[in-house]
Amino acid sequence: MARYTGPVCKQCRREGEKLFLKGERCLTAKCAIDRRSYAPGMHGRESQFRRRRPSEYALQLREKQKARRIYGVLERQFRRYFREAERHKGMTGANLLIILESRLDNVVYRLGFADSRAQARQLVCHGHFNRNGRRADIPSMLVEPGDVISVREQSKKLAYFSDRAKELERKVVPNWMSLDALSMSGRILNLPSREEIDLPLNEQLIVEYYSR
Ligand code: SF4
Repeated sequence: MARYTGPVCKQCRREGEKLFLKGERCLTAKCAIDRRSYAPGMHGRESQFRRRRPSEYALQLREKQKARRIYGVLERQFRRYFREAERHKGMTGANLLIILESRLDNVVYRLGFADSRAQARQLVCHGHFNRNGRRADIPSMLVEPGDVISVREQSKKLAYFSDRAKELERKVVPNWMSLDALSMSGRILNLPSREEIDLPLNEQLIVEYYSR
């Protein structure tokens, strides 16, 4: 199960915008984008002053990379999701985002059990969740309408989850899921529509990237 292990904030700086990959820290003055808003690397600062109009290809590539970074998915897996999205009915770009939103690590993050998708991924890998009463420890697992994702009984006793319980009471989850803060579980009511995915992504550019 491969994942990106390099410096996290570099990814935001490369894309030139906040991708909110680090949870709470992203909302503080420590955010690297606020402190160094130029691309990483030796020539990052210079390139700020010699900006040319990006090519079509560059725009498509950047949008695809941005989506990959937000969801923490490597290229091979992302391409596989794209091929799957093409096979589904409807708009390929929207289908792709819906597939990405259905990942278990994303659902755990959206339900408020973690501050970032990366943290959610780690919690899932460590076996803290059940899906429909059975242990689920694969972050890329895709959820379906009707699924119930819950914190396992033994995990609820951990300090992390007891602290989390208070925050869950105030958590507002997307319309396509419901949260029962008391039992620390969430239900998938339906898969999201594109309009319900609140991310600044232009999925059409991603479709164009893979259709070259
Ligand atoms: Fe991105 Fe968050 Fe790092 Fe800021 S703190 S650069 S938003 S990951």
